[in-house]
This record gives sequence, structure tokens and C-alpha cells, in this order.
Amino acid sequence: MKNVIFLAPPLAGKGTFSEYLVKNFGYLHYSTGDILRKKANEDKQLKALMESGALVSDDLILSLIEEVLQKVPKNQPFILDGIPRTLHQAKKLDIILNGLNLNQYVVINIDVRKDILIDRVIGRRSCPNCHRVFNINIKGFGPKVEGVCDDCSSVLIQREDDTLESYEKRYQSYVESTSPVITYYKEKGCLKVISNEKSDQTEALQILRGVIS
Ligand code: AMP
Repeated sequence: MKNVIFLAPPLAGKGTFSEYLVKNFGYLHYSTGDILRKKANEDKQLKALMESGALVSDDLILSLIEEVLQKVPKNQPFILDGIPRTLHQAKKLDIILNGLNLNQYVVINIDVRKDILIDRVIGRRSCPNCHRVFNINIKGFGPKVEGVCDDCSSVLIQREDDTLESYEKRYQSYVESTSPVITYYKEKGCLKVISNEKSDQTEALQILRGVIS
């Protein structure tokens, strides 16, 4: 099975795709956001920078991901989620992956029209207690009882950054920074585009299965 690098705007379905690969094919999932958030618990400066929405330095993120990749067991497929965010990161990541002999990868660009993404933002509901996320605008992702968490019965909320204005900013920043990265992988011949616009994601996951094998 090939290693996977996901490129997708927020709410395109990276979480669902990753969960599918982890559960069904034993992938390890490395999210740079999660790695950094853990580190930010002990580093106030990093925490403030991340809260401002800015990207951390290429040097920092690349050295952190190299450290993680050095520990990947042999023949263990993995997902990279959140990196590369810039063309420079994409080129450096290739050097790291080549050096560690981990260069059997496919880059998956999850493609969803912007108006559908906005619909998903509006439909997202989060549990303030156990942090489980639901979506009332995606089939099979809504809570069993309206407004209530399936797992801990807390009242679900709409996160403050799940507003159109905030989403617009995150989307724009994704498009600007990722466009050259997409071109880079397209020219390398390792880019696959999977459409994930339907509310029922069965077909998209079937395509994903074909792409990783
Ligand atoms: P995410 O959860 O992927 O949205 O990442 C949360 C935050 O972590 C981002 O807003 C950035 O500050 C930082 N971050 C995550 N991945 C990267 C990256 N590849 N390069 C730079 N900063 C990153």
C-alpha cells in the first residue's frame, strides 16, 4: 500500500478518508496540526503563533516531521495530513522521504466545490465535552438525537470559527498556498484527484481504495 499525502481544503473530508484508511488498512495518521498543538502545550510562543492563524516556520515543521518519519516502522503505510503547505515544504519533504526510503506515496487532492464546503461549515456541530464532531448536512454524520451528542449526551454547539467569514479566510489561504504545491505534484505525476461532493461518501471511499493499492 502506498503512503498518502492529503491536500484538501477544510471540510473536504480528509478526516473521514483518514479514518477509513486507519481502520481498514492499518495506516498511521500524522497530522502536523496535532503534532504542533501537542508541542504548543509547553511552548507559549508557538501557541500564540498558531492561534493567530499564521503558519509556523518551514524549518520547525520540517524538523518535527522528519523526527516522526524516522520512527515509522518498515513497511508501515502512513498518512501525512497538513504538510506540505508550501512549495518549499513539498520540495524539502521529498528530500526527507527519499533519504528515509519512504518515497512510495500518492498525493490525494480531495476536490469539493466551494458552495458544498460552505454548506458543510454551516452544518457542523461539535460536542464541547468530548469534542466529537457531527454534520447535519452530510448523510450519516448527524447526531441520532437532534442537538445532542451521541457519545456523552452534551448539548452540541456550533464552533466560533465555523462562520462563513472565518471559513472564507481559511479557504483563501489554502488556495493561495497550495496551488503551487498541486502543480508540483501534478508535474511529478503522483497527484490523484478524488471528488467528494456527494453527501454519501461510499463511492469516493471506493475510489480511494483503488488509488492506494
Ligand atoms: P491544522 O490543524 O492543520 O489546521 O493546523 C493548525 C495550525 O498548525 C496551522 O494554523 C499552522 O499554524 C500550523 N501548521 C500545521 N501544519 C503546518 C505546516 N505544514 N506548515 C506550517 N504551519 C503548520
